[in-house]
Amino acid sequence: MSDCIFCKIASKEIPADIVYEDGHLVVFKDVKPVAPDHLLLIPKKHFSSPLDFGEEDIETAGRLMVTAARIAREMGFAEKGFRVVCNCGRDGGQTVSHIHYHLLAGRALQWPPG
Ligand code: AMP
Repeated sequence: MSDCIFCKIASKEIPADIVYEDGHLVVFKDVKPVAPDHLLLIPKKHFSSPLDFGEEDIETAGRLMVTAARIAREMGFAEKGFRVVCNCGRDGGQTVSHIHYHLLAGRALQWPPG
């Protein structure tokens, strides 16, 4: 989508601190981290939120979580623990309308979230 900031990160039109990329996904550091490790995982294809996922997108949805787990292992925070969050819609706290999973680690995270 031409006016989507995360599409522009995926296409390298705007810079980001990318830690992993493959043909399907990009993983980059959140510009305003809320934990010592705060990464965002996005599909290169534009989906506004999980509500855009259909049966044909099950592989994409699964790939996001499988990649989150792999990154957690590779970056060394799998053992201590981490959190994967997908904010959805206004009450879910979503501010960027391109689906993204937050991967948070590096401190003990509180529950329930605010
Ligand atoms: P959410 O509020 O769940 O929609 O999360 C959007 C996240 O994107 C926030 O944590 C922002 O800090 C982050 N963000 C917005 N713009 C950028 C950017 N250009 N590079 C990296 N992270 C960004």
